[in-house]
Amino acid sequence: MSNIRVRFAPSPTGALHIGGVRTALYNYLFAKKHGGTFVLRIEDTDQGRYVPGAEEYILESLGWCGIMPTEGQGIGGPHAPYRQSERKETYLKHALELVANGSAYYAFDTPEELEAARSEAAAAGNHNFKYDATCRQVMKTSLTLSADEVQRLLDAGEHYVIRLKVPENEVVTFTDLIRGEVSFHTSELDDKVLMKSDGMPTYHLANIVDDHLMEITHVIRGEEWLPSTGHHVLLYRAFGWEATMPQFSHLPLILRPDGKGKLSKRDGAKFGMPVFPLSWPQGGKKTETAEDSFEGFREFGFLPQAVINFLAFLGWNPGTEQEIFSLEELCEAFSLEKISKSGARFDYDKAKWYNQQYLHAAADADLAAHVRPLAEAKGYQVSDEYLAKVCHLMKGRATFLPDLVEQSAYLFGDVQVFDNENIAKRWKPESRPVFEALAEHLKAQPAFVAAPLEEAVKAFMADRGLKPGEVMPVLRLSLAGTMQGPGVYEMMELLGNDRTMDRLEKAFGYFDAQMA
Ligand code: GLU
Repeated sequence: MSNIRVRFAPSPTGALHIGGVRTALYNYLFAKKHGGTFVLRIEDTDQGRYVPGAEEYILESLGWCGIMPTEGQGIGGPHAPYRQSERKETYLKHALELVANGSAYYAFDTPEELEAARSEAAAAGNHNFKYDATCRQVMKTSLTLSADEVQRLLDAGEHYVIRLKVPENEVVTFTDLIRGEVSFHTSELDDKVLMKSDGMPTYHLANIVDDHLMEITHVIRGEEWLPSTGHHVLLYRAFGWEATMPQFSHLPLILRPDGKGKLSKRDGAKFGMPVFPLSWPQGGKKTETAEDSFEGFREFGFLPQAVINFLAFLGWNPGTEQEIFSLEELCEAFSLEKISKSGARFDYDKAKWYNQQYLHAAADADLAAHVRPLAEAKGYQVSDEYLAKVCHLMKGRATFLPDLVEQSAYLFGDVQVFDNENIAKRWKPESRPVFEALAEHLKAQPAFVAAPLEEAVKAFMADRGLKPGEVMPVLRLSLAGTMQGPGVYEMMELLGNDRTMDRLEKAFGYFDAQMA
């Protein structure tokens, strides 16, 4: 095991977006590739945005995708607890360390005072008020008040926050493994709050303290965190942790299918596609607003392997023509250098294509296990063996798992719907005796198996001077009711001699009646 340690650090503020799953996947792949450790940390310090059930959803999603972390919340490990709300004291202790070494300070301004400062700045023509070096000297902070006064305010239990003292007139630079050198001028950076008045740390403080204490070597996260990284580098410096600062990689944005802007959770409903791994809320209960309830990739009928393969290619590619990769192959081929800087289009057609490929290649018995609940919900009572055979016949045509049973009702019970238009084109007044003779001929076959049945039909046609176009569509319509579906001989073999004969007889009667 190498000392490479990465983490996925979601905030439990709702269902985990598919972009979050991609972040988790890239962390997983990087850890596996290098024999490292993949940690799950729950960043729940923003109590106001906490959503019950979100943490469970994250774990279930990672489990469904097969990319479980090896350490962390819900798993355990040497750096427990992994839920930030359970690590409060650690953050306060570290914030006070920064106050003591002069890198941070107490700010006692009330919300009203802050608002007044903002208005004053606006009146002077500055509409982008930010708490920084230009204003910190006039606010109520431990930089402006006497030590006694600060102590008095603290003893009196006055509300305060602790802010980072961003150094003046410097350029903060770090190397992003995907983007190269990235710089921020400190005049662009505000004095970020590190500890809030509710005693909770902000994301910035908790994230840096934990990455350090959990010995994280590489931070792989979404592009939206790039602007925060200047502050993060300053924090590492303030703590004196620069030597072990993790290496940063900021992943490209995921764009809408039409390429117009960032993919958002509302795009799922808009484009009729899933943008979350699993349904929300779980258990399928719908909430009043469509916006906070939706179906996931799982419920649409995607196989997790297909989703993983699709997500891996959203921003990364191996540099070869190969498109189908198992998780093991992805671990082998993955590298941060091959991740692109530009946004990756969420091409839903490609996701469906991947699912078709995986359905096609899947073992029949596995597919049967997946669709067994769907078949039962439809009242189909069939053996595992029979269900696997249906999957075998249908999988070449299916895009989603439910297609295997939803498009094959006639393989489970009598034909319910006939394509009358096609019947009218194919069935003639003189057809019946011919097809009855063909049915007799088939019935007499010693083995009711596709290949010999095909031979038997061909021999019959040759004998009577019939063309396939005169015979096959009628057989197909008789057995399935439609012109689509699996091979005619395969269907006969699946149904067996008795059921095939029964269907043919009933269909011929129905076709005749249609003509009347
Ligand atoms: N809690 C942050 C999030 O929700 C983590 C960002 C990071 O990885 O640093 O995405």
